[in-house]
Amino acid sequence: MTIIFNYTYRLYPENSQVELLNEWLETCRISYNYALRELKDWISSRKCPIDRCSLEFEYIMSADYPFPGYQQQQNNLPAAKKKFPFLASVPSQVLQTNIRRLHDAWDFFRSRGYGFPRFKKYGQMKSILFPQFRSNPLTDWQIKLPKLGRVQINLHRPIPEGFVIKQVRVIKKAKGWFAIISIQSDISVPNPVPSGHFIGVDVGLLSYCATSDGWREPGRKFFKTEHRRLKVLQHRLSKKKKRSANYSKARLKVEKQHNHIAFKRKDYQFKLAHKLCDMADSIFVEDIDWSIMAKGFLGKHTIDAGFGQFRQILKYVGWKRGKFIGEVDHKGSSQTCPNCRAEVRKDLSVRLHSCPECLYEIDRDIASAQELCNRAIETYRGTPEKQEIDERPRVGVRRKGTRSSWLSSRTVGELRSR
Ligand SMILES: [Zn+2]
Repeated sequence: MTIIFNYTYRLYPENSQVELLNEWLETCRISYNYALRELKDWISSRKCPIDRCSLEFEYIMSADYPFPGYQQQQNNLPAAKKKFPFLASVPSQVLQTNIRRLHDAWDFFRSRGYGFPRFKKYGQMKSILFPQFRSNPLTDWQIKLPKLGRVQINLHRPIPEGFVIKQVRVIKKAKGWFAIISIQSDISVPNPVPSGHFIGVDVGLLSYCATSDGWREPGRKFFKTEHRRLKVLQHRLSKKKKRSANYSKARLKVEKQHNHIAFKRKDYQFKLAHKLCDMADSIFVEDIDWSIMAKGFLGKHTIDAGFGQFRQILKYVGWKRGKFIGEVDHKGSSQTCPNCRAEVRKDLSVRLHSCPECLYEIDRDIASAQELCNRAIETYRGTPEKQEIDERPRVGVRRKGTRSSWLSSRTVGELRSR
């Protein structure tokens, strides 16, 4: 088994290097569009009826003309370089991976049925990939990239021992240049199994997350706090004449602000994920499809909170720290009493869960998290991983001093007899 990590670092290229990188991005964009044109022409030619010419699609390619696949388009590159010398200024592997990218998009379209690759407008190509390194390109504060030379890099996080650098993607953002370094190692690490202290985590807007232990993180609105400035910047942008120098300056400022919000959100989510991993050995979250939630009436806020991204980050952080992160069925988890498992229907506005059957009262989000934890215990019963849970005398979560202590007097055996 191999492990691949992608570490992101900030790059500080010199002015001449920035110029060169921008030139390469533009060249990549042109070759991408050229290759896409070839692909589209071939597809159009195949739409024509076999016995007559259509008015829309001219049958300009012979029937046995091969499909312009990745191999063919890549093999055409050397000839194209002779015809268009500006192509030769870009490292050849960068151009190849650029074509590869188009065909990845095409394959995606073929498998899913949507997302046909589009032509890229000026400035829309944002990244280039250096796919191969013979030796370690990094020194303490520089990275050596082909044809570009040494670029200053902020190695705020050292490359771990035993890892080799596989590829580097250089990305242009409004905030600056970044390098995503893919590192790989052959060491095998066992996947964490569900064991130890279990918690359920319920994420939401009012409290960003609530755990079954009764811990709550207040809701965050990353977008809203920064929204005022974004609004001002967007208003300024709207007053500028299109395609003017001032327009592009104002546009860059808006983009920077968006970058800022995204970075802030991600940083917060990583810290929160670590906090959760400190609290438990196995963490269970809902299996909600957040993209559907984002279409709902609180869509803007759901997108702003970035729950889907948070789940991804939690999984990664959990894996790195040897904690098991699982997903459990979310349906009706907020409408069920975690103590007696009766259905207690309530609107979103009702913030307190109070069960008429067993008089269990607790914050709604925490109740939902406790129900998720119940389900996690049930789901992982009978699997090999479950053995470890059975060995424990009691269910991990115990609440002290509350009126009815959730699950505290109940053993796994009792749960099983249900
Ligand atoms: Zn109840």
